Amino acid sequence: MSRSAVWHPFTQHALEPPMARIASTDGAYLIDEDGNRILDVISSWWVITHGHRHPTIMEAIRAATDAYDQIIFAEFTHEPAETLAAGLIEIAPAGLSHVFYSDSGSTSVEVAIKMALGYFHNRGEARDRIVVMEGSYHGDTIGTMSVGERGVFNAAYEPLLFGVDRLPFPEAGCEQRMLEMFEDFCRASRVAALIIEPLVLGAGGMKIYGAEVLVGLKEIAERYGCLFIADEVMTGWGRTGTMFACEQAKITPDILCTSKGLTGGALPLAATLCTGDIFDAHLSTDRRKTFFHSSSYTANPIACAAAVANLEIWRNKPVLKRVKNLEALQRKNLGRFRGDERFANIRQAGTIAALDLIVPSGGYLADVGPRMRRLFRERGLLIRPLGNVLYLMPPYCVTADELGRAYDAIDEVASIVLASAG
Ligand SMILES: *Cc1c(COP(=O)(O)O)cnc(C)c1O
Repeated sequence: MSRSAVWHPFTQHALEPPMARIASTDGAYLIDEDGNRILDVISSWWVITHGHRHPTIMEAIRAATDAYDQIIFAEFTHEPAETLAAGLIEIAPAGLSHVFYSDSGSTSVEVAIKMALGYFHNRGEARDRIVVMEGSYHGDTIGTMSVGERGVFNAAYEPLLFGVDRLPFPEAGCEQRMLEMFEDFCRASRVAALIIEPLVLGAGGMKIYGAEVLVGLKEIAERYGCLFIADEVMTGWGRTGTMFACEQAKITPDILCTSKGLTGGALPLAATLCTGDIFDAHLSTDRRKTFFHSSSYTANPIACAAAVANLEIWRNKPVLKRVKNLEALQRKNLGRFRGDERFANIRQAGTIAALDLIVPSGGYLADVGPRMRRLFRERGLLIRPLGNVLYLMPPYCVTADELGRAYDAIDEVASIVLASAG
């Protein structure tokens, strides 16, 4: 086969074999050119919610292409964008009233940060600090890397990243200390916003914390007039057991970012929801107070139509019941590893299950992930460990048998890796 011109994301081409070609997708499966069916246990990087190629979404996309392609959104509106915005406001935590569209999780976070800074700028308040949580991931653009965890992934870009105030991850028993630290930041500096992944830090290793931490953070943010940004790009659309993770803390963020599951995973689209206060701070006869943000494909009608169809599925099908069933299945399966000395930190948030493989000292952590990934692929499974952290975030159509097969593979692959990692 001739060498491909394609440069893949997060891929070290010097170490990876050529990419297998996927010819089609179906439910919980990716199907390669030879007809091999690969169980997609990570929902194609957390985007697929109901399953691949859900018929309602595919039909909506086909129908939309009869009417639209891209329409300049700074000049016009269209039915899919309007219906979707109204639908999002209906299901989002009460108090969010405006929807700004973009096209990826990263851009939805960039928009959130700009909304927060614009809010204070337009009100003439000198606030420009952002508070973040250690281990967070908010995207791969310069702005979102700035508010995310620093490390090998962004060392080369470090000189360009802006400074933020960092809160430690609220490990069990240390929540109070973290809340006090947040209050100290609010008291001492000009904090504009806190940005947080509610309940689960995804790319940072599926680290899970309690809803009471969100309640505490929101209370302090409110007291100091600091905006609360919930990055629900991964946690939204049922992943943590509720439509949005913020619901479990009964809080309404000032700004909420959503993307991945917004179209059921079918097409790229993102939305940043905000309160009337934030919209109003940009509402003025003074053009300088305009929210200066746009991308060419803002509110792509076909993507919006896919998202409207996704909302219909949530409205008309028992999706939350499916989510609860998957939650129970994950709990039952995880149970078999309790007390297993190969694993630590067995944990779950809704449909997301995670556990850490205990790598013997001297075992090289960075190699464990890719090795396990290859072993899973040989067994017909797409599972991408984050270092030694194994996690399962399947689409909601996954069956008990399929999930059981994934856990069997984890059992087997863990033993293979440990046998040679000593
Ligand atoms: C994936 C992710 C993003 C970035 O989304 P992209 O669509 O990949 O740009 C941002 N925040 C969180 C919490 C994510 O999981």
